[in-house]
Amino acid sequence: MGDTVFLDRDGVINQDSAAYVKDPSEFEFIPRSPEAIALLTQSGFQVIVITNQSMIGRNLVPKESLEAIFEKMKAGVEAAGGRITDIFYCPHVDEDRCSCRKPEPGLIFQAQKKYQIDLGRSFMVGDSTKDILCARNAGCAKAILVKTGNGAGALAELSRNPIPPDHVAEDLYDAACWIIQSARG
Ligand SMILES: [Mg+2]
Repeated sequence: MGDTVFLDRDGVINQDSAAYVKDPSEFEFIPRSPEAIALLTQSGFQVIVITNQSMIGRNLVPKESLEAIFEKMKAGVEAAGGRITDIFYCPHVDEDRCSCRKPEPGLIFQAQKKYQIDLGRSFMVGDSTKDILCARNAGCAKAILVKTGNGAGALAELSRNPIPPDHVAEDLYDAACWIIQSARG
């Protein structure tokens, strides 16, 4: 298996919503994101989604709805020729003080254990400061910020951060192209 690319979901793969994505009908791909995942798959990367879903801990949505949303996402990616190997999500809220809610690295460590991932060769793509910090906390090789979703706000925040992202991409497709180049480097 090739190197691993961890992807945040909301604002990276699909359009984010302040009211949460609560049902498959509310799940809408960001343009070119299924094709971006297909490009990574076909270039030999393993793609794993790492996502905070506090709507579960807030009892806004049953787990079955979240699973149905994941199925829709995986099916859309497969239709484009890509593959999502697995999805790890944090169901908690801040007050739970868990070790898996990004920026904590717990979800990435769960994936690392299950798939024996060499984190020092892994990439993380996100649209929020917490994604970049999660990548650093987990020891991922490269952290990429996309401008979709919360990316613009995060960019302003991260420019004041002592640990800026390794790359800023227009969207996931642009990020995928950069990752492929970077891994060949
Ligand atoms: Mg996000």
